[in-house]
Amino acid sequence: EVRNSTDIVGYISSHINLKKQGSNYVGLCPFHNEKTPSFSVSPKRQMYYCFGCGAGGSVFTFAMEYDNLTFPEAVSMLAKRSGINLPEADESEEAKRNNSIRARLFDINREAGVYYYTMLKSENGRIGYNYFTKRGLSEDIIKKFALGYTGKSGGLYRFLKNKGYTDDELKMSGLFSFDEKQGPRDKFWNRVMFPIMDANNKVIAFGGRVMGDALPKYLNSPETPVFDKSRNLYGLNYARYARKPYFILCEGYMDVIALHQAGFTSACASLGTAFTGMQANLIK
Ligand code: ZN
Repeated sequence: EVRNSTDIVGYISSHINLKKQGSNYVGLCPFHNEKTPSFSVSPKRQMYYCFGCGAGGSVFTFAMEYDNLTFPEAVSMLAKRSGINLPEADESEEAKRNNSIRARLFDINREAGVYYYTMLKSENGRIGYNYFTKRGLSEDIIKKFALGYTGKSGGLYRFLKNKGYTDDELKMSGLFSFDEKQGPRDKFWNRVMFPIMDANNKVIAFGGRVMGDALPKYLNSPETPVFDKSRNLYGLNYARYARKPYFILCEGYMDVIALHQAGFTSACASLGTAFTGMQANLIK
């Protein structure tokens, strides 16, 4: 409907000069440098084509190329121009519910991150703090990556319950195991903690390294409505601003953090999985 109600000759000639020539209109191509017109617009086919550089397409293509718009932006801009009202995205009840669950899970993860960080800085967290400094990490980098610690008895469950989160929400966060006999327990205890953030700085999960020789050495949050490990990269929230034409892909959290501390700020890592196509897309 938007395409049919937009006359391509009228639209393109509002940007460049077109002259009628036979049944078509011609002008100087806006997509390459030329002195004699090889850019042609067909009102009959509602298409344009340049015989010099091969640029061509519909009124949408022109808007995208000439004004540097995405397809949805081009549709929306041309709809407005023609006085067409586009349907608004209609949020179903289910979509609303899912969004509010996700918002609660982001909150839980953020609060958990604060809890672990506070623990690391407390007297009880000295063993975790010493672990990081022995590995050569500075105060600044510990803060930047919001590293944390969780003690022998956990304590996060009580902390979050006091903040008003329900058992159902806490169950969904993946940070607790709910055993019928023993009740709810912290999944992470006696570990140094690495908050995993998405590209927009939201804490979506945690990785924890055990203090001592217990197994598993590394434990990650399970997949949740906010954590899909195949489509996130550890450290990307900082690496994306490195303004380097490349990323440095590492294996683990500590590799990324050590590289950032040494000034290699385009370092990031996959999250304990094989590198996925979606991670490649993120990087692209
Ligand atoms: Zn051209």
